[in-house]
Parts: sequence; structure tokens; C-alpha cells
Amino acid sequence: MANKQITVTSPLLPSLEEFTPYLKDIWDRKWLTNNGHYHQELERALAEYLGVEYISLFTNGTLPLITALQAMRITGEVITTPYSFVATTHSIWWNGLTPVFVDVDPATGNLDPQKIEEAITPKTTAIMPVHVYGNPCDIEAIQEIADRYGLAVIYDAAHAFNVKVNGRTILDAGDMNTLSFHATKTYNTVEGGALICHDARTKKRIDYLKNFGFAGETTVVAPGINSKMDEIRSAYGLCNLKHIDNAIAARKKVAQKYRAALSNVPGISMFKERDDVTYNYSYFPIFVDEKEYGISRDALYEKMKEHNVLGRRYFYPLISSFAIYRGLPSATKENLPVATRMADEVICLPMHAGLTDEDVNRVLELVCNKGNV
Ligand SMILES: *Cc1c(COP(=O)(O)O)cnc(C)c1O
Repeated sequence: MANKQITVTSPLLPSLEEFTPYLKDIWDRKWLTNNGHYHQELERALAEYLGVEYISLFTNGTLPLITALQAMRITGEVITTPYSFVATTHSIWWNGLTPVFVDVDPATGNLDPQKIEEAITPKTTAIMPVHVYGNPCDIEAIQEIADRYGLAVIYDAAHAFNVKVNGRTILDAGDMNTLSFHATKTYNTVEGGALICHDARTKKRIDYLKNFGFAGETTVVAPGINSKMDEIRSAYGLCNLKHIDNAIAARKKVAQKYRAALSNVPGISMFKERDDVTYNYSYFPIFVDEKEYGISRDALYEKMKEHNVLGRRYFYPLISSFAIYRGLPSATKENLPVATRMADEVICLPMHAGLTDEDVNRVLELVCNKGNV
């Protein structure tokens, strides 16, 4: 291929010039992890940037999910979405709990509140929704159900870094919210994540749990895990935070170009954007209706690849179809028709701050011409 490769994602990186003085500080202090200087600074900076009060940094985005279920002492069954990254359901499994899959709303890709209610049993204790692609869930409807049945709500907000509704963060919804700062996400600390809660007491418990359960030098209060973020990645995160607004603005431009050019292509559909939502443009999913478009999603995906343009079938296959989970009563295709169709039709187009106009045009030319360019 003569054309340069266009990847689906590319990490936001601080410059070496700005990162190096931080490293020098860390070397001088010789304090590498365990709630160090930059760890504390990043927690404060993120709390302020995101508009939340209590946030705990983690070593990745999966352990806050696992820890949230621990912190809230969840038991029995947890209602969740099959249309997500596997970590969502894995976190339930790692706690010895039973995931119960519920279908999604075709307008958002998120858990359909009406179907949540139908899936509640006497064993249900929690709901774990995902703001997929950064599309906000129907937070009010989910909370109303949770309150009526006495259920906890833990949001996997891995895609929803700084997403707002009417100018207000959605990271204060439910009981807890988790973030991922993996290299492929909108904001990254190489690997990393966070758990957001609503009060100081709960944050304290979370901070114990991410440090083996230690509450002081000689006291262990819970079977905690090790999920501490170190000083090097905290410093990297502080550097990246200076660039995140520009990065999101660049993503928005890409999204606007995609949306304008694809809005009248027969057989290609996209999620509608809401006027009251501030998006982070973390992904740009399109859905390929084979009958109307003329070729299948997989055919388009392969054609793009032939032209060195990498899309991602994200989320395909559904979590519920993996061998670990497919035996569950809620995992059948009949129970999950909307999610099944979305998984069969989706391609996430290349989306990152480094895409040039030329790159975007190459992607669009392929999608508009069924890969024949
Ligand atoms: C990325 C992601 C995670 C896991 O985060 P890691 O930082 O990779 O552990 C969890 N849930 C969703 C929806 C994700 O996209």
C-alpha cells in the first residue's frame, strides 16, 4: 500500500520537553508510588477538571469496576449491557456475581430502562450501565427504577470522560462512576483509571481497597487489591490534562466532517447528536445496513483495511456471545435483538486528534463508495 496507514486510534502524548522536568522531580524525591506528590496533584486536578468532588486514581479502568462492586458489597445478580467492552461483565464475574444481560436502546446503544425492569429478580442488587461511546444513558429513568427496587447503580463511564448534559457532568450519576485512562481512550495515562463516589467516607474505603485493604500501618480492614497509580503515570496524566481540550476540539472537527458527509449515504446510519449534551467524541460508530448499502459491514471493513484504513468492529462480538457468558439464560439472541443487530452492523471509523483533513477525506471516500476507490 502506497497510502500511509490510518489507524482507528492514536494516543494523546505529552511532549518529551514538558514531561522531562516531572521525571526529574520524581527522581529527586525518590517517591515512586503510594499516594505520592503527583498522584495527589492529579486527583485534585481531575476532580476540578471533571467537576466531581471525590475521585480515586487506579492503575487501569477495570479494577475500579471490580472495586466498586466490592466497596458496595454487591451480591447476587447485576443487570448490565452486552454491548460494551468485556471488562464491564468481567468485573461482575470477578466478584463471583451473576451478570444479567439486558437489551439496549437503538437510539443510544445504552441499556433500555424499560427492559431493565423486566429483568429484575429477588436476587438483583445492582445495575451496571455503560455510557457507550460517551452517549449518556437515560440516567433519570435508571435512577427511578433503582430507587423503586433498592438497587445500587455503578456506571462504567470509561467512554464518558468529561461528557456533560446541560453543562453538568454525568460522572455524578448513580452511586459510583468509573473511568479508564487506557492509551486508546480520549484521555490517557498510558494505563490508568479512576473511581468516582459521592462522599469522603466512601472514598476512604475505596482508597483502602486499592491498597490491599490497609487502613494505617498495621491494620487491614478488607481483602483489598493492589491498584495504585504510580508517580510516573500521574505526572504523565498531569501533562496530558493540559492538552485534552485541544484534543477533544480536534476530534469534534473530525466528527463534524464525518457526520456531514455520511448523513445521506443510503444504508449508513449514525447516532443522533443531542443539543443538550457536550460530547467528548471518543468514537465515531457507523452502522451498515447490508440490504440498503449493498455490501456487508465485514466487506466494508475488509475493503477499508485493503486501503490501509483501519476501522474497528467495536463492539463485536457481543460480550454475551463469548464462551464464558453464552450459557447464561439472559445471553440469548432472542433476549438481545437490538444489541445483536448493532454488533453485526457497527464499524468505528478512525477517530483521534492526529487525523488530517486528507486522512478524513480518504476514510469518507471509502465509506461513500463502498470501498471501491
Ligand atoms: C476501556 C474500557 C474498560 C477497561 O478499561 P482498561 O483501562 O482497559 O482496564 C472498561 N469498560 C469500557 C466500556 C471500556 O471501554
